[in-house]
Amino acid sequence: MSPKSNQIDKKEPQVEDILSLVRGYSKKDTEIIRKAFDFSRTYHENQKRMSGENYFIHPFETAKILAGLGVGPKTIAAGLLHDTIEDARASEQEIEKEFGKEVLFLVEGVTKLGKLKYRGIKRHSESLRKLFVAMSQDIRVIIIKLADRLHNMKTLEFVRNEKQKRIAEETLEIYAPIAYRLGIGKLKKDLEDLAFPYVYPKEYEKTKELLKNKSKDSQKRLEKIHRTLQRKLAEEGIRILKADFRLKGLYSLCQKLKKNDMDIGKIHDISALRIIVKEISDCYKVLGIIHELWRPLPGRIKDYIADPKSNGYRSIHTTIFTGDGGIAEIQIRTEEMHKEAEFGIASHLSYKGDFKKNNWGLAWIFGLLPYIGPKIAGAKDGPHSKDSDIPNWVKELAEFQADSKQNNFEEDLKFNFFKERIFVFTPKGDVVDLPVGSTSIDFAYAIHSDIGNRMFGAKINGKFLALDTKLKNGDIVEILTRQGSKPSSKWLKDTVTILAQKKIRAALFEEKDNRSGNSKIKKWRGKKRKIK
Ligand code: MN
Repeated sequence: MSPKSNQIDKKEPQVEDILSLVRGYSKKDTEIIRKAFDFSRTYHENQKRMSGENYFIHPFETAKILAGLGVGPKTIAAGLLHDTIEDARASEQEIEKEFGKEVLFLVEGVTKLGKLKYRGIKRHSESLRKLFVAMSQDIRVIIIKLADRLHNMKTLEFVRNEKQKRIAEETLEIYAPIAYRLGIGKLKKDLEDLAFPYVYPKEYEKTKELLKNKSKDSQKRLEKIHRTLQRKLAEEGIRILKADFRLKGLYSLCQKLKKNDMDIGKIHDISALRIIVKEISDCYKVLGIIHELWRPLPGRIKDYIADPKSNGYRSIHTTIFTGDGGIAEIQIRTEEMHKEAEFGIASHLSYKGDFKKNNWGLAWIFGLLPYIGPKIAGAKDGPHSKDSDIPNWVKELAEFQADSKQNNFEEDLKFNFFKERIFVFTPKGDVVDLPVGSTSIDFAYAIHSDIGNRMFGAKINGKFLALDTKLKNGDIVEILTRQGSKPSSKWLKDTVTILAQKKIRAALFEEKDNRSGNSKIKKWRGKKRKIK
């Protein structure tokens, strides 16, 4: 056991630690959390984490993260229960009986997502994010999974070395970008900074070193500005509800350094002063007063209130000359904007009406759409500034929304978009996107017509299965080919993709022609083979 495990706080988890983080819950709301707390603790009894801690600490901490995000009681309960099926052998029936269908649905969703294996991450992260989102079906499943991952990242030091890097990579490539897209800035920053040292240890050390000298100076400067500003605003009768200092995340700083020749002098938002006021009109008044006191850097005033970022982020940013040779960034926003920036889509999931089928099932898609919408319309800022940077599936979604009548979008999406697509892996980790009902024959032709034409068998998740077996999300399919194998006409019935059927027909036709001795085609085939 590592020496660290001896230092772990032995304080027993208390359900009050979770309940103290939520507001406005009714007795019934807290009841389900208490019950889930006891259920999970009992089921995880005697189980240990790699850190040597009791296993229950993990669902407990996950639930605390969820409570901090302001989600509803059923989501918190599901957070407590999220590992009970997979790791503690609780049965589905039991969870349904104790907590209802909806909580079971969430727990199962998280369990399913946990089974996905991410291979070939670097090449396919976009597809994997899509798979992740498509499989979760409900925004709350994603949020629980993000909270689960955040706690796992906090305890990553106890995991075997070779696993550490894979988990951290997954976090940087899949989880943090999803948190960003859902606008949950707080989770995104924490996930990135926890993963950073494991994935890029050298860059991490360098960034830390560069930051060390810089941050103290700018902190002092910001404090001085804050005092001056506070006085002036009080004179003008504007009340600051809250002011804080935001330090840029190390990973995000490193990304910015890379774009600026690793010159930290060029980066002005390492730390920023954040002013939170009551009304939107106050934001503009504060901006005016700041510019009266200090000269702004030209071109650095950003009005994300009038023109929100693609993930919905709103604030006013300005960068000023502090007058003592320094430069500082100030961000101005209302409380509501602040909540949205920290908690994103989670901030819209009020605990009330934790589940209304019509509003909930795919409500998360609306969280993705602001991110997509302006990009399609050709806006310039945001992480995906070029049209070519927009992943195809995101474009498809946006087009799909445009085609769909406003009111039915969510329903349509459920039935026509995700319900009809599955995502299947090659053994190397490439993701193939197919319609529901596809078989390994469709899969083979989607990769290459030669593979389809020469296939004689398929292994699905390592097992030989009939060629007409319908594939499921996340299946890993290996196609076995042999020289001289040929498609059969039965395959036309065993496929659903137009592409596969077209290729099969062509191959059957060619075959027939061959038998009748058409030498032209024979020659052509011969040539093609040689090129291969
Ligand atoms: Mn877990």
